[in-house]
Amino acid sequence: MTIPNHERVGKALDLLREGLRPYVERAMTEAYGAAWQQQSAQSRIRVNRDGRIAWDLANLLKLMWDRWLAVFEKKLAREDRALVSELISARNRQAHREHDDISNRDAYRVLDSASRLLRAIGAEAEANEAERLCEEMLGVIAEARMGPFTGDHVKRDNNPSAVLRDRVPKEAAAPGYWVYENWTHEKAVIHRSNCSYCNEGRGIHPGSGPRNGRWHGPFPSFEAAHQAAARLPRPLRRCAHCTP
Ligand SMILES: [Zn+2]
Repeated sequence: MTIPNHERVGKALDLLREGLRPYVERAMTEAYGAAWQQQSAQSRIRVNRDGRIAWDLANLLKLMWDRWLAVFEKKLAREDRALVSELISARNRQAHREHDDISNRDAYRVLDSASRLLRAIGAEAEANEAERLCEEMLGVIAEARMGPFTGDHVKRDNNPSAVLRDRVPKEAAAPGYWVYENWTHEKAVIHRSNCSYCNEGRGIHPGSGPRNGRWHGPFPSFEAAHQAAARLPRPLRRCAHCTP
């Protein structure tokens, strides 16, 4: 069952809140001692009715942003501040999302940023779980690009020739076989008739004559081509291009 992207993002933001809360409290206590709650309140963060700070994700991120120079710069890297800023926006978008789902790429970006910030603050369990969500999301993206694993994904793939070689039944694609006896390179190569190197026994350069070798065929089956090629006094190869 596939889950919508906004649910994946919601999970990652929950993990972020779980990981940030003890970290932010610890960092603020180290910096301000017993006065840390008053210091936090000065950052105009939201408080509950009982006057205590509501440790939701918006507040945790806002506090990190506001107290970056005083508290968090010493502990984290400059890139982590960019992650905080990005995740503030992501949290706002998530809170105000209505019916539209988030795109695969945008969802991946939020998951990735959340897992990086969790790793940076040393919230290992939450970081591991967020990275697992990233891996899942990469699978979703790959599937969207390739299509599900059925026959019709062939036309949507970026590299159709590689897939076609594997997917199209070989008998249907190749009505016959030829053997090229190559005198200059001392080998005999079996091709399908429709191989671009074979071209139904005409080769790549039609009319070039038997200077380098000659074609034998056509043969109705691979076995017949193989038997004929085996009678030639040369090492036998299969064409790597048409893979008969
Ligand atoms: Zn070939």
